Amino acid sequence: MNILILGSGGREHALAWAVKQNPKCDRLIVAPGNAGIGLLAELAAIDPCSTSAVLACVEENAIDFVIIGPEAPLAAGVGDALRAAGVPCFGPSAAAAQLEASKAFTKEICDACGAPTAAWARFAELDPALDYVRTQGAPIVVKADGLAAGKGVIVAMTLEEAEAGLREIFGGAFGDAGAEVVIEEFMAGEEASFFVLSDGVNVLPVGTAQDHKRVGEGDTGPNTGGMGAYSPAPVLSAALQEQVLDQIIRPTVAEMAKRGTPFQGVLYAGLMIENGNARLVEYNVRFGDPECQVLMMRLGAQALDLMQACAEGRLDEVQATWAEDHAMTVVMAAKGYPGAYEKGSVIDGLDALPETSSQMVFHAGTASKDGQIIATGGRVLNVTARGATLQEAQSRAYEMVAQIDWPEGFFRRDIGWRAL
Ligand code: ATP
Repeated sequence: MNILILGSGGREHALAWAVKQNPKCDRLIVAPGNAGIGLLAELAAIDPCSTSAVLACVEENAIDFVIIGPEAPLAAGVGDALRAAGVPCFGPSAAAAQLEASKAFTKEICDACGAPTAAWARFAELDPALDYVRTQGAPIVVKADGLAAGKGVIVAMTLEEAEAGLREIFGGAFGDAGAEVVIEEFMAGEEASFFVLSDGVNVLPVGTAQDHKRVGEGDTGPNTGGMGAYSPAPVLSAALQEQVLDQIIRPTVAEMAKRGTPFQGVLYAGLMIENGNARLVEYNVRFGDPECQVLMMRLGAQALDLMQACAEGRLDEVQATWAEDHAMTVVMAAKGYPGAYEKGSVIDGLDALPETSSQMVFHAGTASKDGQIIATGGRVLNVTARGATLQEAQSRAYEMVAQIDWPEGFFRRDIGWRAL
């Protein structure tokens, strides 16, 4: 079959790598992709959020199945347009993608189905929001309702920070995404991510992971898109996964179906775990990046079969089996990230690294120029390895990092510290 993957990050490289290993895959096109993806798939230079461009690409290349990587095309309704045109596609409708696109929507769903989450309130105006945080006190969490690339959340340790956050959001710092604000109880604990596929009715777990959001070692400094991840997440025991399925995920999937907007795709539950109990922090409606890289390393070629079963509403007929080992990915980013950084520096040493089922360098912001790989983004490479233990996966990943010659890049040396 001919498959089209939308997106251009490390997540899409990992998806393409897994899909390509499946004997069912004849032709693989990634739009727009990056230099690493270009080594294993054809690239199509189109905007993945443009419904007309995606439909034209599907028609031109007789595509049988589309996998949507990032949230933007989902929120833009690309999944709906494909399904309306009769093209099988992995990824939720825009209506179901509200689970990521609106924090107030997710909170309402949690209330309606009884899923444990932080107590919350919503506001459309500054003054009542200020009164509310003053009565609640700090610590407290202030969030722009809509998509703000992880920047619209202020975990305020003092009342002053909470008030400043509210003024910033209502002052228009996040545009329409900040037209409404959700204010939440602060939850203490350890964060972990649980990934399930849902076909609207059935639910199939596909793995757990933990990531490191902060740029600096010891989880310090500004937030990033993620500086590394590992799978499985030891804190999400089998018993706790069952609890999360029963109390959070299945009720959410049932509630979405009841509302006439069934959720089809990957549901990524961000959880806060304290004293053996999990509460929902947030949902995302696509694989995490870099979490996808470690999940795909463990799932391999069957990922395609699972995504197809998901799109066809027959998840009850399949099982996910993954390598019972550990995977880790270390992100190499351009110096300066998540602030300003230079583009165009040359990366050497990649050719010498063997690509196997247990080690891969997934590309994010790269391009090829005059036969060389150059950095074009903030997060640039995801150096990924498997091992019998997390420790072994970590040593292997860092051995690979050491062979990459990129003076303009940096990475954290402590990925996995919490679990080790
Ligand atoms: P991202 O893009 O990073 O996923 P987001 O904008 O979708 O972020 P959330 O996931 O809701 O926002 O919040 C970002 C981070 O803020 C969480 O990963 C968590 O560390 C912290 N956080 C959010 N809500 C709470 C809460 N109620 N209590 C404590 N910490 C919280």
